[in-house]
Amino acid sequence: LILEEEEMIDFVSTDQEAPALSQAELKKQSMQEVRRSLPIFPYREDLLAAIQEHQILVIEGETGSGKTTQIPQYLLEDGYTKGGMKIGCTQPRRVAAMSVAARVAQEMSVKLGNEVGYSIRFEDCTSERTVLKYMTDGMLLREFLTEPDLASYSVIIIDEAHERTLHTDILFGLIKDIARFRPDLKVLVASATLDTERFSCFFDDAPVFRIPGRRFPVDIFYTKAPEADYLEACVVSVLQIHVTQSPGDVLVFLTGQEEIEACCELLQERCRRLGSKIAELLVLPIYANLPSDMQAKIFNPTPPGARKVVVATNIAETSLTIDGIIYVIDPGFCKQKSYNARTGMESLIVTPCSRASANQRAGRAGRVAAGKCFRLYTAWAFKHEMEETTVPEIQRTNLGNVVLLLKSLGINDLIHFDFMDPPPHETLVLALEQLYALGALNHLGELTKLDLINIFIITCDKYKCSEEVLTIAAMLSVNNSIFYRPKDKVVHADNARMNFVVPGGDHLVLLNVYTQWLESGFSTQWCYENFIQFRSMRRARDVRDQLEGLMDRIEVEVVSSQGDNVPIRKAVTAGYFYHTARLSKGGYKTVKHQQTVYVHPNSSLFEEQPRWLIYHELVFTTKEFMRQVIEIDSGWLLEVAPHYYKSKELEDSSSKKMPRKQGKTKEELG
Ligand code: ADP
Ligand code: MG
Repeated sequence: LILEEEEMIDFVSTDQEAPALSQAELKKQSMQEVRRSLPIFPYREDLLAAIQEHQILVIEGETGSGKTTQIPQYLLEDGYTKGGMKIGCTQPRRVAAMSVAARVAQEMSVKLGNEVGYSIRFEDCTSERTVLKYMTDGMLLREFLTEPDLASYSVIIIDEAHERTLHTDILFGLIKDIARFRPDLKVLVASATLDTERFSCFFDDAPVFRIPGRRFPVDIFYTKAPEADYLEACVVSVLQIHVTQSPGDVLVFLTGQEEIEACCELLQERCRRLGSKIAELLVLPIYANLPSDMQAKIFNPTPPGARKVVVATNIAETSLTIDGIIYVIDPGFCKQKSYNARTGMESLIVTPCSRASANQRAGRAGRVAAGKCFRLYTAWAFKHEMEETTVPEIQRTNLGNVVLLLKSLGINDLIHFDFMDPPPHETLVLALEQLYALGALNHLGELTKLDLINIFIITCDKYKCSEEVLTIAAMLSVNNSIFYRPKDKVVHADNARMNFVVPGGDHLVLLNVYTQWLESGFSTQWCYENFIQFRSMRRARDVRDQLEGLMDRIEVEVVSSQGDNVPIRKAVTAGYFYHTARLSKGGYKTVKHQQTVYVHPNSSLFEEQPRWLIYHELVFTTKEFMRQVIEIDSGWLLEVAPHYYKSKELEDSSSKKMPRKQGKTKEELG
């Protein structure tokens, strides 16, 4: 006996008769044989016919039946990518998007990133050749900003729909809407065997295609008494299985990286102590931030005589299928975002998972043979302490950022947005009120300038200068109160201001001010010496922090252009392309409306008068002045806004040199 009696966990089975455990038959099969052996394969033709016939189809199938890896390949084989059209498949989890794309590339014998690619936060592994694109639901949401009708896609698969993440829920509303005016777009909503009727109902009674599962019986065991320390209980249970049960791999569900690492360490250490008294135990973690080469290890077949134990987050519940699992250990917890509407605080907390989750987890044990699931809680707790299903994320989140995102997509009427489960009315109203208080929405609930800033931040992602753009956006939001110009020290103040001037324009000057302030350690003294208003700077810093949080939410990576100002000016152009002015006789003319405007005398470009400018805002005092201007190259406009500008509009009307001066001098303006 290796484990001491008191270390053993007492499990009780609720089943009357426990079917004998049959061993997994791990045959060596070729990749194509494996594809043909998946439960979905016999339904290939029927499925394609159903997709042909219906614009929107709900697809239900047991985890591991082949929905995620096979359906996009079937569609490709059936011609859905002709003419360079793409098939997009969303995943709520980054790890799943990467891992599944890698698998499909392998099945198709192509290099990942070519025909098959993935796009996740911080990483775009696609190319012009990519026709099967796996991505996080958040990334597809972002694509609506640049391509509101998703015109380059022939099929969108919203996978793992049952997860009901916030992003997936918003996608439901948006995709349902665009499907109306894009009859050629096919929409597939794929889900584990959960909730499919609700999806069908939401999508105007779309038919449900069911892929019958292959599932072996799973014996469920509960603990007799609640476990005080579920981490320790997991470790003991794994060892108990290892020494008492027949071959087969083990899957343990924990809530996050820290727990998983702790559990793996404990297991490894105890195995080391037991030494050769036990068979080899391979301990493998899997969680979102694990490097991808480590993630791939969980799929390696277990060597004969050894046993594999995979310690995973929820990711292994339905998103990833690991072959060979016979035993599941389920402590019954998961990490969930929770929102306190009263305090406005959002937090990640460990909570009991739902019964639906627990049943999905147990199901992982019965994929290849009859299995066993050890629940580290009592049968009573399962019945009485767990919720039936998981509450959709939209009902437990701070909606502020969601509102901003939807508004920037042009959706103003949020109260009537087609949510599958509308967020509580008061949460929505509170979010709108908060945004109004922040100045992000006006009294009509429309986005104000701050929104332009958001769009600008979103677009800047492409130019790899979000670090600088964040600062500029924050500074612009307080821009009229940064420089201090006391009447009795005008000369000093103007000199101090001149010291911040850098080539390119006012946005870069603001960036320079902030950067120097940061280098001073956000010093008050520094502000005083440089005629900068400390309070405005502090506010800019707060806004910057907020924007940074938003960027995280919309999955924009914070990167710096490393001193190159061209990407920054391009990003400004991308965000504000409709604020373009061209030098003409006697002043500037806005490009679209031919309105006469002037550079504000406070601008760093007042003297320089470049040919093409982007302005942040127009203010009318003695004339129409452009405040905060930046010099651009007219060619960039075609690059960033080809839908808005025609090259003819951007031709210089005369090749004559423009006058270097315009308007009146500072003094004349007062
Ligand atoms: P579903 O989406 O229906 O849950 P998948 O398409 O993800 O199913 O998986 C189908 C099968 O493909 C799995 O049962 C597994 O055998 C195999 N598979 C998927 N991903 C991988 C991977 N990364 N490595 C090895 N096998 C995989
Ligand atoms: Mg899947």
